[in-house]
Amino acid sequence: MPTAFVPTEIRAGETRVAATPDTVARFVRHGMAVQVQSGAGAGSNIADSVFEKAGATIVSGADSGYADADIVLKLHPPTRDEIAAMKEGAVYVGFVQALTDKDTVEALRDRRISSIAMELVPRITRAQKMDALSSQANLAGYKAVIMAADHLPKIFPMLMTAAGTIQPARVVIMGAGVAGLQAIATAKRLGAVVEVTDVRPAVKEQVESLGGKFIEVPTDESAEDEGGYAREQSEEFLERQRQLVRERILAADVVITTAAIPGRPAPKLVTDEMVEAMKPGSVIVDLAVETGGNCTLSQPGEVVTVHDVTIVGTLDVPATIPENATEMYAKNVLNLLGDMLEEGAPAFDFEDEVTAGATVTHGGEIVHPRVREAHGLEPLPDPKEA
Ligand code: NAD
Repeated sequence: MPTAFVPTEIRAGETRVAATPDTVARFVRHGMAVQVQSGAGAGSNIADSVFEKAGATIVSGADSGYADADIVLKLHPPTRDEIAAMKEGAVYVGFVQALTDKDTVEALRDRRISSIAMELVPRITRAQKMDALSSQANLAGYKAVIMAADHLPKIFPMLMTAAGTIQPARVVIMGAGVAGLQAIATAKRLGAVVEVTDVRPAVKEQVESLGGKFIEVPTDESAEDEGGYAREQSEEFLERQRQLVRERILAADVVITTAAIPGRPAPKLVTDEMVEAMKPGSVIVDLAVETGGNCTLSQPGEVVTVHDVTIVGTLDVPATIPENATEMYAKNVLNLLGDMLEEGAPAFDFEDEVTAGATVTHGGEIVHPRVREAHGLEPLPDPKEA
């Protein structure tokens, strides 16, 4: 019977974990033994005893858990020590940051780990239930608005009272992907006036259906790649966008930035000069801070006040809502691995679009085409032609 291990996430401040009692019970039904490190669920308010009741065995240290595990279920990319503790040939499921972190990929390959990267799950309809980028971004978009509301010295909705009429807060959202769309919906529910910018004209309809006003930036450049992601735009486009959006930002009480380009630094959309010209007391929440930030003055992991503007650079925002974030992430992992299982063990069928799209290393090789390219390796022969 294959054994899966769920370690405690060791990154500072991390509250999430890669399994819940519900997903443990399902893995057990799939014919797996599941070991959970003692305390792994504490940050998400899941006691060891609750994991145990669901069918898990609790192990006290990470080392013995890794040593026994055929499958490791994690969230953050594994550290060198964690990779060294894994059994040779084990299966790893979790984030890898495989397109940007070459060393981790090589360490996984050298240990002959079969690694499945949550960030590479193809964004196709069948894989929506496995899409951890979306599940976590959705929560981050919600929380960004709540954080902004908390720091803002005024309320969001319009209020007509005997003491006078309060005008609604004005919110500008930059980037209308998964996080941005949830931020629009949340800010609208709180009663704000919401304006939105994105490079992909295709999102205009989605923005408007949520009650947001779309700020269009005319472009001849192709804004979207085959995967539905934004392409990196020219400096000339970004300058035009800054000019157009500038006046909306200067009138705003809140700016929430979520703009990202996969594998690239975040585009700089809010400059020092714009922050200086913003209204005193206004708030910027920069969800792109992990990849360098959309605001030039954001500080990763900090809330700073510059030119009387509060700039929130909280890292790992979904970890601030661990109960839902863990629930959704664990479900994404279950759905991904569950589809690959044959008699409790993952089968690597590279003709399957999700397996081929998300597997980084297997059998001592880097097998993912884009990751191979990033490592300067020749493409492997197509399994369909083999
Ligand atoms: P993301 O986190 O990579 O980027 C966030 C947003 O920033 C995107 O909407 C992008 O267009 C935007 N952006 C980039 N540069 C910008 C700039 N200079 N100015 C303003 N905005 C800018 O994207 P995401 O939220 O992970 O996903 C993007 C899209 O992918 C989704 O909206 C959807 O169309 C698609 N998607 C499909 C599926 C699926 O079918 N399974 C799942 C998830 C996402």
